[in-house]
Amino acid sequence: MTDTTTPPAAAAAGPSPTAVTAWDDETSAAADATVGTATDEQFVDALPKVELHVHLEGSMLPGTVLALARRHGVEDIPTDEDALRAWYEFRDFNHFLAVYRTAVQVLRDEEDFALLARETALGLAAQNVRYAEMYFTPWIHTMRGVSPAEVFAGIERGRLEARAATGVEIRWIPDIPGGLPGVDILMVADRTVEYALTYGSDALIGLGIGGAEVGVPRPQFAPAFSAARDAGLRSVPHAGETTGARTVWDAIEYLGADRIGHGIRALEDSALIERLRTDAIPLDVNPTSNLRTGVVADYASHPLPKLIELGVPVSLNSDDPPMFGTTLREEYLHALRDLGLSRGSVARLAAAAVRHSFLDPDRKVELLTEQRIAIERLATPSA
Ligand SMILES: [Zn+2]
Repeated sequence: MTDTTTPPAAAAAGPSPTAVTAWDDETSAAADATVGTATDEQFVDALPKVELHVHLEGSMLPGTVLALARRHGVEDIPTDEDALRAWYEFRDFNHFLAVYRTAVQVLRDEEDFALLARETALGLAAQNVRYAEMYFTPWIHTMRGVSPAEVFAGIERGRLEARAATGVEIRWIPDIPGGLPGVDILMVADRTVEYALTYGSDALIGLGIGGAEVGVPRPQFAPAFSAARDAGLRSVPHAGETTGARTVWDAIEYLGADRIGHGIRALEDSALIERLRTDAIPLDVNPTSNLRTGVVADYASHPLPKLIELGVPVSLNSDDPPMFGTTLREEYLHALRDLGLSRGSVARLAAAAVRHSFLDPDRKVELLTEQRIAIERLATPSA
């Protein structure tokens, strides 16, 4: 496409697709050129980053879990940081979910949610993350008797405090917890949407479903996602993490997925890979999470490089970072050192996260420009 065929509206919204491709190639080459001028850490730290798949509750730092457990007298939780780290050694995905649901019991009131949101956002800002779309799970708190008003007010307060302190922007994606034992999941789906539409601020941007996939077929959530989409929310379900390609198809066909959380099992189905590529439906990929829950054996066999090679839109994310002993920064370093990706390739992942986000086009161009400037500055340190 040439400039003469670009409609004025598209030109006003940002660079043309041709310009973006050229920009990517140049920026990617500049990123590769930083190998002689900056360490991996300097490269990752200098890169302004966006996170699209991170859970608020899964971001609770060990010190915060311990402090809140003591404050509220919560039992069943290890009482020092070493024991907590050992507690975070997961046997499998279901063991991970069981530990997760025990840990969140320390969150009791608005103050706790404000603290968690503030700490999490400040932790992202400290890694040069500029923007994050963050899941949280209202039902796992309201089912324990916490009022939804307190949950939503608390996280919003923490978000605004962190933004005032650092400029980091957070948007919220309430999600439905799949696989809670003995619970009517469709009732939970309805409550999650109801809470979101009743208590959500203008920072609310989507609806998700997380937790177990096994035994939690996605088609049954079509009405909940339809209601959310009618209210202007985007559809961001987890799918294809612990179950196969069929779940990803269901997320697309029944839930109108704008992006897929994980989705790595899409590789089992070449027709699905083609669909993700042609319809530009991105996968939010979380390598260390997949290792720690036993979904993937090791970094060497992680499918991210293969997905990139096949042209599937992907970004790099941290999921539940302290629980998995990682951070977004660490995921970028793993991509360079353990997944064998070049700096140019990692720079493309960082740009992809901006493009796959639900930010408005002007803000995307600003962030992409900041990324390009940061990389060029590293490539030519004397400039
Ligand atoms: Zn997740």
